[in-house]
Amino acid sequence: MLLKDQVAIITGGAGLNGLGFATARLMAAQGAKVAILDLERADPAGAAAQLGPEHIGLVADVTDKASCDAAVAAVLQAFGRVDTLVNNAGITQPVKTLEITGNDYDRILDVSLRGTLYMSQAVLPAMRQQQGGSIICISSVSAQRGGGILGGPHYSAAKAGVLGLARAMAREFGPENIRVNCITPGLIGTDIIKGKLTEEKKAEIAETIPLARLGCADDIAGACVFLASGLSGYCTGITLDVNGGMLIH
Ligand code: NAD
Repeated sequence: MLLKDQVAIITGGAGLNGLGFATARLMAAQGAKVAILDLERADPAGAAAQLGPEHIGLVADVTDKASCDAAVAAVLQAFGRVDTLVNNAGITQPVKTLEITGNDYDRILDVSLRGTLYMSQAVLPAMRQQQGGSIICISSVSAQRGGGILGGPHYSAAKAGVLGLARAMAREFGPENIRVNCITPGLIGTDIIKGKLTEEKKAEIAETIPLARLGCADDIAGACVFLASGLSGYCTGITLDVNGGMLIH
């Protein structure tokens, strides 16, 4: 088991079809104790219960610093340590540049970018004390190619911001054996794209992808387990493209 006796926190992990829950499931199968954090309406406790009684689900809004700090304190109380944080919570909005309002900008950037900062700030003191840890940030191919298929420019900006923040934290905390890496998923079939693409459109997109299919949540989960485990012990500040070859360059 790659994560035996480790503790992992996954934000935005309660959606049963999402990348976060697939990651929680695979990490649990690899021996980790998992804490799923999500908004109340997503029922993080219910999601964690599906993994088994040794895992916990906590209500936390990643845009609220006090909420992040309280959730991490509860994880430390329950499990005594935190080895991995997956900054997965994110929202998107399919609009064009001229349509983005100030409120849209705040909403989209706050969940992905402010949330990544607040949650990382919340776990770093414990990781420092343990002299090690792995922070995994879910960015997007949208950050690299200037727009994915569904997200607006503010989503691209939020996810590009995540890449910069993660690399800067990787430099700052590398000497303390805390690794910070990003994953840039391509188009993955989760609730975030539900109802937004017809089957025809999906098939059209798949034709442009070298591996000839959309991704599935487990494709991202595998990459997260790699970055959480000792297998990636000499990787920090990297951007791991998991996109079926959509962005070979
Ligand atoms: P999803 O909608 O299933 O998951 C997002 C989760 O974040 C939800 O459970 C939601 O409740 C939670 N969330 C939203 N706001 C929150 C907040 N303020 N605090 C805590 N949790 C919050 O979608 P997904 O596809 O599994 O997306 C997971 C991550 O992957 C997101 O960051 C998304 O931007 C990114 N991503 C997805 C794709 C894709 O094609 N599905 C591609 C690239 C990147």
